[in-house]
Amino acid sequence: MERRKFLTLSSLGISALSLSSFKSAKGTLRRPLVISTWDAGIEANKAAWKVLRGGGRALDAVEQGVMVTESSQNCCVGLGANPDRDGIVTLDACIMDELGNCGSVGAIERIKHPISVARRVMEKTPHVMLVGQGAQQFAVEEGFPLEEQKLSPDAKRSYENWLKKNEYKPVINIEKTQGHGPFAPNKLDTGEWNHDTIGMVAIDANGNLSGSCTTSGAGFKMRGRLGDSPIIGAGLFVDNEIGAATATGQGEDVIRICGTHLVVELMRQGLSPENACKKAVERIIKVKGTEKSKQIQVGFIAINKQGEYGGYCIQKGFNFAVCYADDKNFMEDGKYIL
Ligand code: ASP
Repeated sequence: MERRKFLTLSSLGISALSLSSFKSAKGTLRRPLVISTWDAGIEANKAAWKVLRGGGRALDAVEQGVMVTESSQNCCVGLGANPDRDGIVTLDACIMDELGNCGSVGAIERIKHPISVARRVMEKTPHVMLVGQGAQQFAVEEGFPLEEQKLSPDAKRSYENWLKKNEYKPVINIEKTQGHGPFAPNKLDTGEWNHDTIGMVAIDANGNLSGSCTTSGAGFKMRGRLGDSPIIGAGLFVDNEIGAATATGQGEDVIRICGTHLVVELMRQGLSPENACKKAVERIIKVKGTEKSKQIQVGFIAINKQGEYGGYCIQKGFNFAVCYADDKNFMEDGKYIL
């Protein structure tokens, strides 16, 4: 919604909650609303929507939403995902609520739902991030079962192929064409589309925002590598006064510009979610240079406090799922720059 219109409404004493029926440049303002990255977002949104439509908290919605993706064995999120170079699946996740509380786990092994461990870090420890063995130890202490250390059939095939070539170069939109993350050089022979990160942001009926992000990171990454997804301000950021944003794609380049924090700050300056995402993508291209940027993909999605949403990416091929009603859960293509 244009800032001027919002200010006028505010000055009339109309509360933010009652704005849901007013029109914005992008149509009727939506609330509750949940959006998430890539095709897997459709199923994840359904679970999030169940919480939101019942008047539930956005925080519960974004946790339960991405848990669906973490449970999927056909996805590059969760324990079915591609391993690192040493053949071990390590997972990253973070979560942030409407009060600015946040929690994160990095490189956690043998845990099915890293997003829930991230939430426990947020709610039960004085810290924001736990990584590696310490994160796993905390999860076990909290009662999370330790799963078997075993590759899914898809990941096993994919890893065996990768070992033959032992390459380590980014491939644009590999999620669309080959099934695994932006670093993965090999084709999955299942022919399925698998996406490697799910980022989700939501606003609930009370107007509160939260977000979650969970991933196996880059396929065949160096052991110990963390991307943007577990880093607050890079893979995910929420400011309940303004909006929320999440990212997918080559994490190193998202970290370099503190991507989602930048998106939220741009919304604070009055930009729409879509334009804020666009500016952040432009920043990556400026920092990295156009030629090198052609070799990578990054996509941002965002929502604002008024229930508007948008997404933008470097290259054609990124999409996100948008849900704001029982019968409104659909894919939208991210606009792109290069
Ligand atoms: N952003 C994730 C990472 O760099 C991967 C992805 O979203 O494709 O770990």
